[in-house]
Amino acid sequence: MKLYKEVDVLIIGAGPSGTVAAAYLKNNDFSVLVVEKQKFPRFVIGESLLPRTLDHLEEVGLLDAVKKVGFQEKVGATFFSEGKKCEFLFAEQFTNGYEYTWQVPRDQFDKVLADSVQEKGVKILFEHAVLNVDFQEKFQLTTITNKDELSIVKSKFIIDASGYGRVLPRQLNLNKPSILKARSAVFTHLKNHFKEDLQQQNNVFIDTLDTFSKAWMWMIPFNNGKTSIGFVGDEEWIKTFEENPKLKFSEVLAKNNNFQETFEKIEFEFEPKIVNAYSVGVNKVYGDGYVLVGNSTEFLDPIFSSGVMLATESGLLGAKLVAKQLKGEVVDWESDYAEIIASAIDVFRTYVDSWYDGTLHTIFFTNEIRQDIKNQICSVLAGYVLDKKNPFVKKHKRVLKNLAKVVEMG
Ligand code: FAD
Repeated sequence: MKLYKEVDVLIIGAGPSGTVAAAYLKNNDFSVLVVEKQKFPRFVIGESLLPRTLDHLEEVGLLDAVKKVGFQEKVGATFFSEGKKCEFLFAEQFTNGYEYTWQVPRDQFDKVLADSVQEKGVKILFEHAVLNVDFQEKFQLTTITNKDELSIVKSKFIIDASGYGRVLPRQLNLNKPSILKARSAVFTHLKNHFKEDLQQQNNVFIDTLDTFSKAWMWMIPFNNGKTSIGFVGDEEWIKTFEENPKLKFSEVLAKNNNFQETFEKIEFEFEPKIVNAYSVGVNKVYGDGYVLVGNSTEFLDPIFSSGVMLATESGLLGAKLVAKQLKGEVVDWESDYAEIIASAIDVFRTYVDSWYDGTLHTIFFTNEIRQDIKNQICSVLAGYVLDKKNPFVKKHKRVLKNLAKVVEMG
């Protein structure tokens, strides 16, 4: 097998976590190779971004390229339940952060990031899959394939940004079941046959399909003439879409008031896709010579659109620590990486749990929330989950439950 290349850092996967990590390392003069299994543009779900991701893109010099595309701006999130509405606007936040973000078809968004990283001089080897990593004491030998032939990449460090591919979690047996209940999703893109100009296209719409949010739908309008729509629920319910996905999808939409008020007719861009039991965890996010970033660490739930933000947060932090270590500085991977990423994920886990157990339903829909409290919750929904000055971050486990009790008491 021939040696393809020798680099400082090999990154597996060119999604947002991989490209943000690559940009940071290249900016700091490390040699980087990204190995990406697919040809871009490629479809991936995860289209509603959070403002916090803009901080990461800005820091590594990728923000301007994304701005130039002119993606659909997203200024907040609106939740509906049985005719009630609760709207969060990112301009009304506790944390001093970005007040908007975007709703992006990921094939286009990820390609813009990949192109910009290549313009910086990073080589992305598309249509090459990582098969196996041989960890030696001071370097790694990674076997890659383009289906015709195998070759080897020698590196000093590996960043696993392989998302749902979960390359190192599988090879090193790091996967562990999520503690969240198994849930599944079905989604598609529809043509924007709006009844009239959608008043608030710049918003993600979340609608509960039953009380306490056990099943819910998203509506993410893009400005390319399409809208992403998906349903999330328990595995049994999503299984009922398998036989005839388009028919079942249309039947559920026919019963949804928001959809009926918005769309004139249904025209599918593609057959609805199903993802079963999407939540997954790992028992370790780093080891000798490697770090996991993005979805190859843990994926919780789509409800608060946290996936890409956690991918760019961990991609950037992981890359910073790799750079430090390669410069010969000591890195405490447990406290400088694992604990920080775990604390960000933990805050979202509390909000995900509180969505499905009805706590957030009580807070969002029973009463008007005090504006200062709403701003604090809004900063979590904007992705500022490392801002410990925010009580809804710092004491996330307690405050939501306490607030729901107060709301219930009237
Ligand atoms: P990915 O974007 O998955 O990129 C990983 C890359 O690695 C891929 O391009 C893949 O081809 C490549 N790869 C895989 N295996 C290999 C291999 N062996 N060799 C080389 N390359 C490989 N997130 C949001 O922020 N907003 C949302 O609205 C949202 N909605 C979601 C809805 C659902 C139903 C689900 C399941 C998830 C949703 N997410 C959402 C989460 C989002 O999809 C992910 O969190 C995000 O894509 C993670 O980015 P990443 O860079 O870690 O991985």
